[in-house]
Formats: sequence, C-alpha cells, structure tokens
Amino acid sequence: MAKYIFITGGVVSSLGKGVVSASLGQLLRSRGLNVTFLKFDPYLNRDAGTMNPYQHGEVFVTEDGAETDLDLGHYERFADVTLGRRNNVTTGQIYGEVLDRERRGQYAGGTVQVIPHVVDLIKDAIVDAAGTDGGEVDVALVELGGTVGDIEGMPFIEAIRQFTLERGKADTVLLHLVLVPGLPASGEIKTKPAQHSAQKLRECGLHMDFLLCRSEKPLSLETRAKLALHTNLRSDRVIDVPDVKLIYEIPDRLHRQNLDDMLCARLGFACRGADLTPWREFARNVGNPRKTIKLAAVGKYAGMADSYKSLGEALLHAAAARHAGLALDWIEAEALEGGGPSRILDGYSGLVVPGGFGFRGALGKVEAIRWARENRKPFLGLCYGLQCAVIEFARNVCGAKNAISAEWLDDGAVFNAGDCWVTLLDNQGKATPRGGTLRLGAQPCVVERGSIAHAAYGEGRISERHRHRYEVNPEKAGVLRQNGLRVSGRHPESGLVEIIELDGGQWFVATQAHPEFKSRPLRPHPLFLSFIDAMLGDVTEF
Ligand code: GLN
Repeated sequence: MAKYIFITGGVVSSLGKGVVSASLGQLLRSRGLNVTFLKFDPYLNRDAGTMNPYQHGEVFVTEDGAETDLDLGHYERFADVTLGRRNNVTTGQIYGEVLDRERRGQYAGGTVQVIPHVVDLIKDAIVDAAGTDGGEVDVALVELGGTVGDIEGMPFIEAIRQFTLERGKADTVLLHLVLVPGLPASGEIKTKPAQHSAQKLRECGLHMDFLLCRSEKPLSLETRAKLALHTNLRSDRVIDVPDVKLIYEIPDRLHRQNLDDMLCARLGFACRGADLTPWREFARNVGNPRKTIKLAAVGKYAGMADSYKSLGEALLHAAAARHAGLALDWIEAEALEGGGPSRILDGYSGLVVPGGFGFRGALGKVEAIRWARENRKPFLGLCYGLQCAVIEFARNVCGAKNAISAEWLDDGAVFNAGDCWVTLLDNQGKATPRGGTLRLGAQPCVVERGSIAHAAYGEGRISERHRHRYEVNPEKAGVLRQNGLRVSGRHPESGLVEIIELDGGQWFVATQAHPEFKSRPLRPHPLFLSFIDAMLGDVTEF
C-alpha cells in the first residue's frame, strides 16, 4: 500500500512548493523508493490548456497528452518520473465529474454536496494517482496549489483531513511550506505569518508534521525553536528552504537537514541512503562553466521566463553536460518586426524560437529565423518555431512573398488563404471547442538517415510530445524540397512533417514537437546537446 506525503502552503503563494515537492520526490527516489506525484489545482478550469502563460507559466504536456500545471515539469525533471493525466487534478475536473454523475442519476435522488460527494472524488483522485499498472507506488507526493485558507482550496484541505484520518498517521505525513520574511530595514526575521498559517491549518483539523520555511537566509536556532513552539513541533522538524541560485540545489539542502531520513523513519521505510553525487556534480558544472554561450530566444511571452520553463531547463541541462554556461536572452518577437534583425541579434551564437500561438510577433520570429539562416547561426525551432521557419523559407527562398500560416487568418490578418504553407488539414476540420482539441501528447516520428536529427538522436524512430493545431501543408513539401529544405522527420503513418533541416549541413533544425518536455538534468535531451555542440563549435577543443 502506498504512503502519502501532503504538501500545503501558507502565507503567500509562489514560494516554490512545486520545487520542494519535486525535491522530496528526488530524495526518496534516490533512496530506491518508487514515487509519484499529484498536483491539485483549485481553479475551475478543467486543465491548464487554455490558461494564459503570462499568468500561470508554461502549460506542461504529458506523454498521454494532458495539458498540465508547470509543477509537473519540476516533478518529472527532479525525480525522473513520467507522469500523466491523473497526476494533475483541478476543481473543474472534480466538479465536472460530480455534475456528470448527477445527470446520469448516480446519486439516486440524493442531495449532491461538497461533503461527501466532492470530497470523496478528491480522495479517489489521491488513490488513483498512486496506482501503477502493477499495483501502487511506495510514496505519492500530493501538492495542493494555493495557500491554506483560500476558499477554492477548502474541499481539498477537507479531503486531506479525512484521508489522513482514514489511513492513519503511519501512512500519511503533512508538510507545510511558509514564508518567513525578514524586515528589510532592521533585518529582523518575523515568524508571525507562519504562526497564523499554522493556526489556520489547525482550524481545518490538520496537524503538520514538518514546517518548511522559505527564507532569504538560513534560520537561526532561536527562530527555529520559536517556530517549533508555535507549531507544535520538535525543532529539528522545522526545515529551512533558503533562496538558492540553482533550484537543483534544494534537494541537497533538505537532505543536509535530514528531512529524507526523518520522512522515511516516520513512514516506516527502511531504505538505503540518498546518493546525491551526480546532482552535486551537475550543480558544480552549472556553477563553473568553461565557456559561455550567448543565445537568443525569440518568443511572445518573452517577458516571463516561466512561460518557457521547460525550454530554459532543457538548455541548462544540455549546457551543463558540456561544461558550458548559457547567457540566454529572451527577446520579445515584436521588437524584431519592421527593421533588420541584425541590430538586435548580431553577437549571439545561436537562436531558438519556441512554441507559440497567434499572429502577434510571428513576423518578428520569421525575421529572426532569416537572420540565423543567412548568417549560418545554429537555429533550433520548436513547434511554432518550425512553422515560422517554413514561412520564412517560403517567403525568402521559394519566392512566395505572401506565405502565411492559416492560424494568422484566425487573428484577422489580411492575407489570401491560398498562401497557407502551414495549415489545418482537412481531417482536422475547424476544431470548435477551445480546450483539449489540439494534437497532444506523444507522437512517433521516423528520422531520415544522414540528417542532423538522426545523428543527434542516434536512432531512426523517436517519440516526442506535441501540442499544436496546425501542420506544414503537405502540398508545399515538393517546392520546399526543391529549394533546399528537407523533411528529415515524418510521422510514420500520416507522413506529417515532424522535423525540417536545410540542405548543406548547417545546424538549422526545427521540430513540430516539444522535445524540451523530456529533458532531465542528468539525462539531457540529445537534440539540445547537439544544438549546444553546434554553438560551441568543436567541443573537443577544451
Ligand atoms: N500555434 C501553432 C499551432 O497551433 C503552434 C503551437 C505551439 O507552438 N505549441 O499549431
């Protein structure tokens, strides 16, 4: 039977609960335990698919095609697990299911209520997340989004209370993460907000087993003792989560305070100790680069790196493996429109154009890609990046001056539909519902021998996660080919374009997929490694 670790938050949101949960998962995993995660998001959206990345950060896509909260990305990267639809549950999903059951008559005329009906489904989701094909994991880490006391979070808090009561203390643990602020003027550390948050938790009938304190600096023994007294804990159960330069240092910080030992003892796991050697080496590589690559990323949500979280991480993982540092500048695509891109891009060693939606900024991306192609700078295009690369090539090499993506018509751009080099395919139709209707999740791809992609992946059949609606127009493939753009990866059954490259060996690779979702710190993604190598020139030099 699985054991459960619940992680709640207090005082303010955005304290890094996701990273802390992921770090715990990593520690337990490295002790040989089989772990999984569940993120509860108390918002009413069914999933993160239609949410603005400015507000909520990137939409993380799982193998099975769920559009989830970015915390699932942290979980997968830290603990090196593969998650899916059942690992991210929102209030919208729970209520949607309750209402569907009511319509189907499953409540047999009863009054449908938050307790027991909504809360029961939340408890079912907890058990469901812990299930594997062959039984159950050893530990499921269940993180509740938001802070204790939020109206939206209440049914989840109640579900955790009931679940803990039913399973007993031997199988459940509660960690509470709070902010312990310091006053800027006096430097004084204030524990009161944490005390109030602990009180709030007690009002809800929950008793924390560990208090995790996010603070600028490590806490003094005195502060810990005070927090322990007010939260009913032994002071070794008050744990520091100080600010760090690199999020991957967090597991080690927790480990040095014996958190994984205490958790294992508390849950009755007699397992080996954690070996963090490879992680420490990874952090050393990040901290001590031998060379630094200046890379330009051109996107629409460039103002907020969280909108492209997985991309930033994938680049970091690959650079660290090559002992390289990365000076990554996010450039707002619109800034490149209507003027030579050189004034902004010259001086960069390479260009990445990530996924995106809509017409705004698209022509800036096209301009940036032209700069990379003409200046023979390594270019990596991801999803929309591939689509923009096709438009760029059509316009500037194939002479189709008005080439566009059909997506731009949606946004009211004045173009001729006949110029769609990127289009909706007939069998896709015009998907009417907005959410969950994209081409999502893992898709196979056959990679052409002799291509850069083939050399990078080292194999001819790969699988990557997708999240898009539009495709390269198959009718234009012949013209692209004649002019020197090769399709080096295709979907095996449909023949859809998956990867493109230029003839002539220049490192110019774009993929319709999102390989960034599968990169792991200790297992960087091969395409990103190859991209970093291209930017470094001959890596064997140093
Ligand atoms: N907007 C494009 C499409 O829907 C690309 C999506 C993306 O980059 N994720 O096809």
